[in-house]
Parts: sequence; structure tokens; C-alpha cells
Amino acid sequence: MRLSSFFMPTLKESPADAQIVSHKLMLRAGMIRQTSAGIYAWLPLGWRVLQKIEQIVREEQDAAGAQEILMPTIQSADLWRESGRYDDYGKEMLRITDRHDRDMLYGPTNEEMVTDIFRGFVRSYRQLPLNLYHIQWKFRDEIRPRFGVMRGREFLMKDAYSFDIDAAGARRSYQTMFLAYLRTFARMGLKAIPMRADTGPIGGDLSHEFIILAETGESGVFCHRDWMNLDVLADAPGYGDDLQAFFDKCTGIYAATDEKHVPGESPVPEDQLVSARGIEVGHIFYFGTKYSKPMNAVVAGPDGNPVLAEMGSYGIGVSRLAGAIIEASHDDHGIIWPDSVAPFNVGLVNLKPGDSQTDTVCQDLYHKLRAAGLDVLYDDRDERPGVKFADMDLIGLPWQLVVGPRGLKNGTVELKRRATGQKEEVSEEFALTRLI
Ligand code: ATP
Ligand code: MG
Ligand code: MG
Ligand code: MG
Repeated sequence: MRLSSFFMPTLKESPADAQIVSHKLMLRAGMIRQTSAGIYAWLPLGWRVLQKIEQIVREEQDAAGAQEILMPTIQSADLWRESGRYDDYGKEMLRITDRHDRDMLYGPTNEEMVTDIFRGFVRSYRQLPLNLYHIQWKFRDEIRPRFGVMRGREFLMKDAYSFDIDAAGARRSYQTMFLAYLRTFARMGLKAIPMRADTGPIGGDLSHEFIILAETGESGVFCHRDWMNLDVLADAPGYGDDLQAFFDKCTGIYAATDEKHVPGESPVPEDQLVSARGIEVGHIFYFGTKYSKPMNAVVAGPDGNPVLAEMGSYGIGVSRLAGAIIEASHDDHGIIWPDSVAPFNVGLVNLKPGDSQTDTVCQDLYHKLRAAGLDVLYDDRDERPGVKFADMDLIGLPWQLVVGPRGLKNGTVELKRRATGQKEEVSEEFALTRLI
């Protein structure tokens, strides 16, 4: 992509209405545009990141055995009356009336709808276990939408729903998602700590929130300091293995949200307890028959008798993650994207458009990098080098490849790693082998 024709409306100044760094940087980098309170349009740079995040989530869900579907955003209120949540959910639910005066709603979550799909088709325990997920926009009329996409009203969520014949199966499904979540966040360069959590309006008795520690986080959390230097995935089992020992190990190291933490009653000595703030990027629940019972989602068990499905649900804040990753990875100059979610792999900077040798070398690098399958943003604009460097640092692509007449005289280009700031004068060929 040539920057001269790429729609990336960057801002020089920090927008006054943005309070936290990720929101500021997303606006400054031209990733998003607010269209109403808590509702955002994703511009090309932001949309690329969102799709990268979504794809990592999708790959791990698929690897864990979940199957992707797509349920609508608009739901019928009748389903929610069946579960009893239509009245309970309160003002966060956006309620809509259609032209026939039917009560509809914009889905804040999908337990009812997926249970309805399940009961419409699944008849036998032999069809279980089953885990269905989708990646879809949700709407919650948050009382205080803020911090950009971190607390939007319309936001993108991955939500999965598991169905099992018994509690042992459901626990296994829960543990599989637990592992999938750790892997998913690790692939984005994030350290997410699974914390014992409240089940809130979803209900149930077993629940973990996946939390990224950050001062700007909205959740108060407590954990054992061992979590600080721990890589739980180092000796993690595979999805098909027995996960109980791994799960016990992870949950054996204390970590709890402030709703679950009782001061003075945690098993951790005071001097080993970390009290911090965090961002909730995922949340998993095992709630048994909370929905299958009122909605009569039964299958025939091995003896032919009807059995209520044992269920769990598993959410990831896909759009929130875009902000959370920036909170975890930035410096004074801008965003530092982990390779896995970067909107482009390489920023190619032409220091002197119009200089024929510089143009030729840039063209050559651009074509070779793209032919190798890399996404390249080619800054071919007629701008001062300082402007180009500042924009590249702001948008945070993992690599910058800088080409100018002075270097070319010595046969070199400059390769810069955004994360470390390290620069190398190298030959064109060396740069290509390093990047490809
Ligand atoms: P929060 O405590 O932040 O309000 P929640 O507990 O209400 O979140 P869940 O019902 O657990 O949210 O939804 C699953 C995931 O969806 C959350 O872990 C979070 O990452 C994401 N999410 C929830 N609300 C929002 C929102 N308003 N904007 C962006 N992402 C959200
Ligand atoms: Mg909430
Ligand atoms: Mg929460
Ligand atoms: Mg939650």
C-alpha cells in the first residue's frame, strides 16, 4: 500500500477528549473515528489490526475444537423472556420495537439464541460435546462509555458456547477454553492472568476473567507475585490432552478480581500479594443448566432418558483488545505493534521521492517484500523526513526500512526495529533476507 493514497487521517495533536494512551494513539494514528458516544467506525489502519486480532482468536478457537457460526445482532425479546433475563438485564440492553410492535433487542450476549439453535437440532448425547462460537458486534448501553474502544457501547466480541452431557464433560470444555485463552492472548504478545471471577448476570458458579495488568485498567485485582515472572504456557499440554493437572497448576497460584478477593482471607501472605489494576480481555463461565433448564434444551442420554445440556460460555473482547495491546505496548513516540497483530509488517520510507535512484530501490524493495507475502506500507509522500519518521513511529509498524540518497551512495539502506529502536545500515539484500 502506498501511503500517498492510503486513507490514514493522522492527527498531530493529542485529542483533548481522550484520557488514556491507547485511545489517544488510536485517534492520532487514524485508526478509528467516533460516530456516537461509544460507537466507532474503524478506518483502514484500525480495521487491519482488528482483523488480525480476530484471526488469532478464530485460529485458536478452531484448534480447540470450537466451530464458527454467525448469529444475528438483532434478537427477539421472546427468547429472553423464556430465560427470565429480559427483565433482569436492565438498561444496558438496547430494546427495539419493530413495525409490528414486536419487542426486539440488539444482542448484548447470545446464551438464549444459541440455546434455541441447539434445542432445535441436537437430539442425542452422541452429538456432544459441541462448542459453537461467533465473532459478532454486541451492543450494551454502558452508563459510561469511555476510553475509546475499551468500553464502547457497540463492540466486537468472540463468544463461544459449550454443550455437554454431564458436569465432567462441561469441566473439560471449560478447561479447553481456558487453555485456548492463554494461547490466544500470548500470541498477541499479552500476558493475561486468569483470575477467579464473579459470574454476574450470566450466572453460574465457576468463572475466570483473563486480565492484563495496566494502571488504566478498570478492574481492581489481586494476585500472587509469582504471576509476575511466570510463563504458564512453557509446559502446557495440547488441546487433546488431559488438562486437569495444567488447570490445577494455573488456578493454584492465587489470582482474583476484587469482587472475589476478601482482604485478610486470601491464602497469600501480605508481602507476596500484588494489588493492581487490570483490563478484562476475556471471561469464561461454567453455568450448568441455567439456560438449558428454563429453555428445555434436552438430549437423549445413553439410557434414552432426557438430560439437560450442561453449558458454559466464553467471551473475548476483540475490539477491546486493540486498545489493550496498545496500553501494554507503546512509548512516547507511539504504538509498538507486536508482529502478530501489526497492520503492516514493514514501513518502507522513501526519504527523497523524485530522486531516481532512491525511487528505483524503493520500488524494487516494495515489490520483492510484497512478492514474499509481507504487508508493506510504502511512504512515497512528498514530505520532510522528520514527518515521515514521526508518522512511522506513531503507527508502530514492527520494521522500518529507510531508503535515501546518502545511504545509497555507500550501498546501504537503514533497517530499524520499532520495539528496540535499534538501527542497522545494511545492504538491500541483507535487509530483504532479514525481513522475509
Ligand atoms: P466489563 O466488566 O468490562 O463491563 P463484562 O464483564 O460486562 O465487561 P462480559 O459479559 O464478561 O463483559 O463479556 C465478555 C468480554 O467482552 C469482556 O471480557 C470484555 O473483554 C468484552 N467487553 C465487555 N463489555 C465491553 C465494552 N463495553 N466494550 C468493549 N468490550 C467489552
Ligand atoms: Mg460490563
Ligand atoms: Mg466484568
Ligand atoms: Mg465479564
